[in-house]
Parts: sequence; C-alpha cells; structure tokens
Amino acid sequence: MALPISFEDLQKGDKAALAAALAQIESNPHDDATVRLLTRAFERPRGHVVGVTGPPGVGKSTLLGKLIENLRAAGRTVGVIAVDPSSKRTGGALLGDRIRLATDPDDKGVFVRSMAARDRLGGLAEITVSAMILMRAIYDVVLIETVGVGQSETDVEGAADTIVFCVQPGSGDSLQFMKAGIVEIPDIVVVTKSDMEAAANQARSDIRGAIKVTGGMPGSGALEGWETKVLSVAALHGRGLAELASALDAHRVFLEAEGRLGRRRHAQAEAWLAAAVRERFGRDGLERAGTLTLESGVSPFAKLAEVGKTLAG
Ligand code: GDP
Repeated sequence: MALPISFEDLQKGDKAALAAALAQIESNPHDDATVRLLTRAFERPRGHVVGVTGPPGVGKSTLLGKLIENLRAAGRTVGVIAVDPSSKRTGGALLGDRIRLATDPDDKGVFVRSMAARDRLGGLAEITVSAMILMRAIYDVVLIETVGVGQSETDVEGAADTIVFCVQPGSGDSLQFMKAGIVEIPDIVVVTKSDMEAAANQARSDIRGAIKVTGGMPGSGALEGWETKVLSVAALHGRGLAELASALDAHRVFLEAEGRLGRRRHAQAEAWLAAAVRERFGRDGLERAGTLTLESGVSPFAKLAEVGKTLAG
C-alpha cells in the first residue's frame, strides 16, 4: 500500500487501505501523515459509534454477529472494533485472536478488527480511539465491543455515542448493575439469552426498577430527557435484533437533537487530548501545556501535534 494512504480510498470502502491505515496509526501514531489522515477523518464524522459492553460469556459476540447481519440487510455499512482485554496483561497484541465474528470477507460493507487494550489513556487505548475516528468517517455504524469487568464499562464512555450494556439472565449481573453504579452509564440495556424466559423477565424487571430509582441522578441520561431502554434479545434465535436496531436509531436521533451529539463528542475529544498529552509528556508536560481547550471542530490530533511542538521547543 503506497503512503500516504488516501482518505478517498478509505471512503470507497477499500479494506486493504483501511488495514494499512490502522497499521500506520499503530506504528507511527505521531507522524505528520498519520495526523493529517486522522484530522481529515475527525472532520468528517459519518457513523454512529455504539459501545457494546458486558461480562465474558454474556453473549456479546453472538449479539454483534446478528446485529451486523441486521444492519447489513438494511443496507448499512459496519465497522467493528473488538477490544481485547487479555493483551493488556500479556503486553502482546495478537490481533484478530479474539474475533469470533464470522463475516463475509468479500463484503466491502463490513470491517472487523481486534485491538489491544494496552497503553491505556485512562480509558481505551489511544490507537483504539484513533481507529474509531477513522472508521467513523467510513462506516454508517461503528461497534466497539469491550469486556465489562470492574470499571472498564466506563472506558467506552469516552469514545462511544451510545452505550449498550449486556446483562445475562440469572447471573446476578442485574444486581451488580444496581450496586456498582453502572446504572447511570448505559443508554440501552440488553438482557441477553431471553429464551431463558423466567430469568430474563426477572432480570428485566430488576433493571427497570433500578433505573426508576436512580433516574434523574446527575450523570444519568434521564436528566437530558432519555430514559434508558431495557430490551430482551435472544441472539441465538434471532429475536429482538430489530428492536435493538431501532433503539439504537432512536438514541442517535435523540443525540442529534439540540446539539447533544456535538457536545458529547467535543467533550470526548478534549478528554482524549488531555490524556494523550499526559501519556506523552507526563504530568509535568500536562501542566506546562496549560488549559487544553479545543475550539469547536478542531482535531485533537492536530492540536496534540501543536502542543508537542510547543513543549519540545
Ligand atoms: P461473549 O463472551 O459475551 O462474547 O459471549 P458469546 O457470544 O461467546 O456467548 C457465550 C455463550 O452464550 C455461547 O455458548 C453462546 O452460544 C451462548 N448464547 C449467546 N446468545 C444466546 C442466546 O440468545 N440464547 C442462549 N440460550 N444462549 C446464547
């Protein structure tokens, strides 16, 4: 693949060009060509970024596989980033190892990539966010799958427009959901494996109860007028996927009203910038950089390069 990679090739759905671009942001994240590419992508947000999180075994891969099918059948293109939590411990990213999604390699409208959760910026890895920005400029929907164990449910908050939290019936997940303060994070809660009917109904009513109690607390979407939706899905049997797809669309419409989406993405970009400056230049660098505000629409990648030059010079 010739460098620099052209943004136009990416937009055309050239998967080889996207793979090359991802390799480039991984190997040369601060290169001028990388910054230019990411800046172009940042300035052309097209897709809806959806974070899907939940404990191992809850059914995320099965759900994503079916959701991708559903979106593709509706003529929508999909990019997927599966965040691999194990590579954080081992330090080695075996890209692709955790992907259990079978997608058609000849379909230009779907691209799946597994990425390491290492080099964290107090949230998702810096390159995971960069990859999201690239894919957001190309695909209609970008799905980020993360394993929710402990506080990592919140990580994806810094990158996604809409958060989907998956709960398994009868697992105690719904109790943990209430206790751990996770209740304020998701925009949509999916009770998976709803073919386990009694347990699924119980989980759904527990979660609805928890949302009622905490709804209206600072930080919850309720204050902005969104009531967390609780859905039942049996992905293995293809049930509930259309409802999930409509709930995602409804949340996107909600975000687009009254400038909410712009504000949310701007806050995420500023948080990313501060974390990236700290990562590269340490606490001291962050202090020397002073107040790091991003003017509306300015790429955090371009701003990071600018701050880097000032700090070095
Ligand atoms: P992940 O670890 O969250 O990605 O979960 P997987 O998608 O790998 O699913 C874990 C297990 O749950 C697998 O054995 C699936 O076959 C099973 N599973 C997934 N969806 C359903 C469902 O709708 N109903 C039932 N009964 N089992 C399911």
